[in-house]
Amino acid sequence: MQKIALLGATGSIGMSALKVMRQHPDRFKLFGVAVGRQWDKLLPIIEEFQVQVACVWDSASAAELRKRTQAKVLEGMDGLLELVTLAEVDYVLNGLVGSIGCRPTLEAIYKGKHVGLANKESMVMAGEIINAALGKHPEARLIPIDSEHSAIFQCLAGRPVSEVEQIQLTASGGPFRTRPAADFGSIVKADALKHPTWVMGEKITIDSATLMNKGLEVIEAHYLFGVGFDDIKVVIHPSSIIHSFVQFRDGSLMAQLGCPDMQLPIQYALTYPERWPLKVDRLDMAAIAKLEFFPPDTAKFPCLALAYRAGALGGTAPAIINAANEATVARFLEDRPAGSAGAIGFTDIPRVIAAVLDEAEIVPRPVLDDVIAADAWARKAALRIMNPAADGAAAPLRAQAQAGKR
Ligand code: MG
Repeated sequence: MQKIALLGATGSIGMSALKVMRQHPDRFKLFGVAVGRQWDKLLPIIEEFQVQVACVWDSASAAELRKRTQAKVLEGMDGLLELVTLAEVDYVLNGLVGSIGCRPTLEAIYKGKHVGLANKESMVMAGEIINAALGKHPEARLIPIDSEHSAIFQCLAGRPVSEVEQIQLTASGGPFRTRPAADFGSIVKADALKHPTWVMGEKITIDSATLMNKGLEVIEAHYLFGVGFDDIKVVIHPSSIIHSFVQFRDGSLMAQLGCPDMQLPIQYALTYPERWPLKVDRLDMAAIAKLEFFPPDTAKFPCLALAYRAGALGGTAPAIINAANEATVARFLEDRPAGSAGAIGFTDIPRVIAAVLDEAEIVPRPVLDDVIAADAWARKAALRIMNPAADGAAAPLRAQAQAGKR
């Protein structure tokens, strides 16, 4: 019986993980759960799985939950770190969104836990630090859950990186793949939330629309698999049937295919190296009939090129673009009326991140405190750039954007 702590239990990864656990109730025990503030959605999960320990990020929401459950209720970052290091927990499934997931990943590794990682920000922000921790704690294990990285992990099947010539990450291309760049100025939040193939949370859906999600995945792949940035390519594959490719040095190209359903990579991360039965849809290749591929357009989607640039810079640069992206996407999701203070449009997202990266002082070999400081600095810098009026500067970003329009 594997005792699991599920971080982000009410999110899209969390819900898929619960479905997997329901398929194997005799082999998985949900011991602990963590959420941001959705205590009301968490309560039925605690009851169904008889969860012993819960953690709620938001203090007021934690207090609400305490009134209604016998489970121990922790809160905040301290609570998260306590949850992942409990002696009873064998496996930490990290489905948190954003940079908040980084420290729990590291802490779990320090305690020798097995970690299933859906929180790509952990690797983006602190890839070298996490790899060093894994080197020092061989009893710990890190298995990727991001569908592309699970695909690569499955294709590699334990072969050394020296046999790999190239990794090809597939990308759906998002909702604006065929929309002309000239029309990007009119994109609103509702358009950007219409992902063609995956149903996910709002933040990652916007990242998929800008291709920043793929950019972060390139950095994640670099640190997970030790492949150089020049050997990590992105190929647009709109139907999301092939989850990624590994090209070996003899020219053999291995791919992993499956219906776009996160239950599969989640279960594989939990059962690796075994494969257990799983009730998800099967692919009917004759019905699919054809698979399409296109090169990515980095002029139309500058976030992808920005991620490669940050990856090549290394040090704290990936943490900086990640934090700038989080701040910018959060602002875009606020959907402020165009022209109002701090309002940003879709094309401002890469513009703000690039401006933050241009200003940044990058720490080459960061420790965790450097990463956390870089993250905080980049958020502040992004907020200032998005709302210079609040800082007494001249032109708001929208006006600059208009002036710079090609
Ligand atoms: Mg992915």
